[in-house]
Amino acid sequence: MDTLRYGDTGSHVQILQMGLARAGMDPGPQDGIFREQTRTALQAFQIQAGLTPTGIAGPYVWEALHPYLVGYRVHTTVRGDTLYRLARQYHTRLGAILTANPQIDPGRLRIGQAVIIPLGFPVVPTDIAYSSALLELVLEGLRARFPFLTMESVGRSILGRPLYMITMGEGEREVFYNAAHHANEWITTPLLLAFLEAYARAYGEGGLLSGMDAAALYSGVTLRMVPMVNPDGVDLVTGALDVESDAYTQALNIAQNYPGIPFPSGWKANIRGVDLNLNYPAEWNTAREIKAAQGFTGPAPRDYVGPNPLSEPETQAIHGLTLDHDFQLILAYHSQGELIYWKFLDYEPARSFEIAQDMARASGYLVEEVPLASGYAGYKDWFIQTYDRPGYTIEVGRGVSPLPLEQFPGIYRDNLGILLIGLQVVADGTLPADQ
Ligand SMILES: [Zn+2]
Repeated sequence: MDTLRYGDTGSHVQILQMGLARAGMDPGPQDGIFREQTRTALQAFQIQAGLTPTGIAGPYVWEALHPYLVGYRVHTTVRGDTLYRLARQYHTRLGAILTANPQIDPGRLRIGQAVIIPLGFPVVPTDIAYSSALLELVLEGLRARFPFLTMESVGRSILGRPLYMITMGEGEREVFYNAAHHANEWITTPLLLAFLEAYARAYGEGGLLSGMDAAALYSGVTLRMVPMVNPDGVDLVTGALDVESDAYTQALNIAQNYPGIPFPSGWKANIRGVDLNLNYPAEWNTAREIKAAQGFTGPAPRDYVGPNPLSEPETQAIHGLTLDHDFQLILAYHSQGELIYWKFLDYEPARSFEIAQDMARASGYLVEEVPLASGYAGYKDWFIQTYDRPGYTIEVGRGVSPLPLEQFPGIYRDNLGILLIGLQVVADGTLPADQ
């Protein structure tokens, strides 16, 4: 992480503020502005950690804060330790320690053994802006707490950021959820991650998730998830991309041709100005003509389809991983509108509409036909065209993207049912593809 000091702003300052708050300090609002209160909290943390209270966050501060950023620390056992005592000592739950350490026999704890201690708060923050750096911290934390999760990089963005896929479950049948194809719709990233954490916790501790048996889902369906398809774009929108960098300058130059689109908040594309959800080979030429008529003929903050289908490393990665698997159902998360899109052209995959209606009942969202001007070349379109299986674009929340994080609790509540239905219909084995 960068060295941060008084007066700095941006997403990395928010990560610092989050870490300080989790460590029990009071950095003030987690708004990404390094003010007096953040400095005072940082100095208090430095003293507690045995560091010189400079009020500047350098490498030693980031190292000392790391457990709070990833939500766990490693404890080496000493005489007298029991898991129960460790849970009390670290203000966490015994169930969380057991889940994180499946190799440990609680009755035979040895001295000098390394125990992963999940700290007493969720790993996935839902009250600060996301960035590729925050995603990596969250994934490190989830992997430690829930060792049954697997994570891999399925490709790289234009700027070389890994495109992470997380896998959970042991079912033969697979579903695929993705989020943040569009940069300023990054609120969909914590949505998928918070769901994953809730599901993993319920499974790890033998519990229910919204009344459903997590273990039955786990054995019935394999969930694959790419929570941030467009990390470079997200970094641009949330202020995590260095404004001195060439990539930022290039994006700014592109944006200057579109003065009607606010910068960077109106940015949906990847970092070189291709709208990733218009870059899939599903009536791509139609999309190109429609968007060209609207004035989008080259790199733009949104709505440029790219020089050809799958021209971008991000869409190539998602396309490739889809071909490598056999997904029975996909959800592609976007904002906004509280809508569920389920069709492509005249394709009507069996049971697709019925499932969409169940999702609508669970969420209060409306099932919609896609408006003509945006009904082509999206990921869901390509999936339905290729597999004739249920695929949905879910548009969360209401207002102007990026949606304010105040909407997050409501968005999570609404979508929990949708996310569970997607797993359940596949775990049940009642989709026609199985028969
Ligand atoms: Zn979108």
